[in-house]
Amino acid sequence: MGLLTTVRDVLQASTESANRGDVTDERSEGAYWCDDCDVRIRDIDVEGDDPPDCPDCGAAMRFERSPGSTGCAC
Ligand SMILES: [Zn+2]
Repeated sequence: MGLLTTVRDVLQASTESANRGDVTDERSEGAYWCDDCDVRIRDIDVEGDDPPDCPDCGAAMRFERSPGSTGCAC
């Protein structure tokens, strides 16, 4: 029953992300994005300062600061 397994995995994944989705995480300054895949990896989940490669397509990911961390985007 591969389909059922897949659904359960998705449900578990969404539950985990909800638990980890605390808005106030002072260590996180932003996240890395792959525009092609819409994949996001938070900077605190990446070791080191180098942008990681997209796990889906392998392209270098783009860093984007969290809105609000600096207060003003002007
Ligand atoms: Zn990608």
